Amino acid sequence: MAKKDYYDVLGVSRNASTEELKKAYRKVAMKHHPDRNPGDSRAEEKFKEASEAFEVLGNQEKRSRYDQFGHAAEGLGNGMGGFGASGGSGFGDVFGDIFSEFFGSSGGTSNGRHERGSDLQYNMEVSFNDAAFGSSKEIDVPRMETCDSCGGLGAESEKDINFCSSCGGTGQQRVQQGFFSVASTCGSCGGRGKTISNPCKNCNGRTRVSKTKRIRVNIPAGVATGSRIKLSGEGEHGPNGGTSGDLYILLSVKDHSLFERDGADIFCEVPISFSQASLGTDLEVPTLEGKARLKIPTGTQTHRIFRLKNQGVAHLRGGGRGDLHVRVVVETPNKLTSRQKELLKEFDECSDANSNPIHDKFMEKIKNIFS
Ligand SMILES: [Zn+2]
Ligand SMILES: [Zn+2]
Repeated sequence: MAKKDYYDVLGVSRNASTEELKKAYRKVAMKHHPDRNPGDSRAEEKFKEASEAFEVLGNQEKRSRYDQFGHAAEGLGNGMGGFGASGGSGFGDVFGDIFSEFFGSSGGTSNGRHERGSDLQYNMEVSFNDAAFGSSKEIDVPRMETCDSCGGLGAESEKDINFCSSCGGTGQQRVQQGFFSVASTCGSCGGRGKTISNPCKNCNGRTRVSKTKRIRVNIPAGVATGSRIKLSGEGEHGPNGGTSGDLYILLSVKDHSLFERDGADIFCEVPISFSQASLGTDLEVPTLEGKARLKIPTGTQTHRIFRLKNQGVAHLRGGGRGDLHVRVVVETPNKLTSRQKELLKEFDECSDANSNPIHDKFMEKIKNIFS
């Protein structure tokens, strides 16, 4: 059967403008759309004819070749036959426009266009010291990647991709429910708007395969729980050869057995004895890197804080480190020998001459209240 002239199919003159073509195609496509004519194979045929005609006439290059060579042009050179496979220019775009007008919603995300891959989040736990000084870690990220065999095409070759006739390439079907027309994913093409006669054997036509990628993550010094590191383009690859999403590393920092952290400053409690506090001493205190010596002066009260400069965590945005705050806690012994008790009693008996600043201040207040 001889093919009908494309201009006749759309009912336009040979010098119709793109706008006229679009309008004419919309009219024919709406009239014969398979969703409006369920089970009517003649309408389906007309719809396909119109779509084919518009695919050619709606594209400047294809149109001029058609004008020159007629239907014979279809055998020539690239891309005259395949619907949708060429993507991007001409047909795909205008088609999307028209169908979004039909349905009041865009079929654009599902009709075989390139979609961006999903962003991924990886929850990573790091040690207190790795957060303080920075670190580099390797992680295994399970994700969807573009199929190597078909390069995201989903078919063994471009020739194996066909325009889905059931949904007209929109990837959606309309079902009439009472007064309402409800959109659902096209069952024939699974919402892709095209069918594949010879799917890629590696990905079964899904254009992506699930893989595990080993990725090195550089953790900057000074990160804290809730810090997020973005690795652009390391998320899932987009379907149909689309761009990749991003990978976000969400950090949580493990507690330290000795140190607590507030921003770039760290805190540590160190017990000292009553006699050390009274007489003063040279104390060894823990630091992030090891230890340091701290001079405890005579008459140090409990909970006094000593600051060791630049012994804290690195500032995330650069510029040195925070401080280490050492809080000394004077400890009361709870198992005294009889000799120790004797000495303490003796000590107490001659305590009147002592300076007890906290006690003295307390007595002063009491006096003020009750006098
Ligand atoms: Zn493949
Ligand atoms: Zn379909």
